Amino acid sequence: MNERQRRRRLVVGNWKMNGSRAANAGLLKGITDLWSGHANVDAAICPPFVYLEQASEALAQSPVALGAQTVNEHDAGAYTGEIAGSMLKDLGCRYVIVGHNERRRMQSETDAQVADKFHAAQQAGLTPILCVGESEQERESGHALETIGRQLSTVVNRVGLQAFDKAVVAYEPVWAVGTGKTATPEQAEEVHRFLRAELGTVGGDVQILYGGSVKPGNAKQLFALPDIDGALLGGASLSADDFVAICKAAIE
Ligand code: PEP
Repeated sequence: MNERQRRRRLVVGNWKMNGSRAANAGLLKGITDLWSGHANVDAAICPPFVYLEQASEALAQSPVALGAQTVNEHDAGAYTGEIAGSMLKDLGCRYVIVGHNERRRMQSETDAQVADKFHAAQQAGLTPILCVGESEQERESGHALETIGRQLSTVVNRVGLQAFDKAVVAYEPVWAVGTGKTATPEQAEEVHRFLRAELGTVGGDVQILYGGSVKPGNAKQLFALPDIDGALLGGASLSADDFVAICKAAIE
């Protein structure tokens, strides 16, 4: 079995700040009705914190795992409004997204803080999904790999390479998230190959997802690339049909 075959596929839905109890019930039912799992494809959803318990109950008998959209870097204490990794674990989360570009930009999360969140997630027994990606300006000025390399190396320097054997990396070009623009297969593959090389000895085993306007219509083409192991979805994860169609596209 080669490295590619050894790596399971993973499709993760980031609901962002969307949903209501009623709307979630329909979406969760749609997902659990349509996706019964696959030997080589894992699926997960990341609802807003306040709906994690609702999702956890709805997914109890399902192969779809639960994740959160961020985590605080501290264990407990006077951090009003924040959520610790142990709390996410307590609610049944397996994954947590760290370093999503919306949080890097809107909550001013720094590379160092993202590295601390990655560490805190692992300390709590969660699998971090580390998002990295360049802005449009960084790509146009030829600095995409420099930015992505810096975002990754800050985490590697904090936790060590070996920690990535229990982590997921997601390449999400900022200019492709929520914009309808997708990286070309060549652009995506170049960055995924770069990330794998930067991860050195563990690189061959790390699941590296692509995120940025993935839809049922373009998923298969992206998943055919040798270094793309699945997708992190925003908009498409709010439709059970689209989410499951993309999970099915990940089946080889
Ligand atoms: C995301 O927010 O991680 C994302 C990839 O969003 P979208 O699929 O809507 O571009």
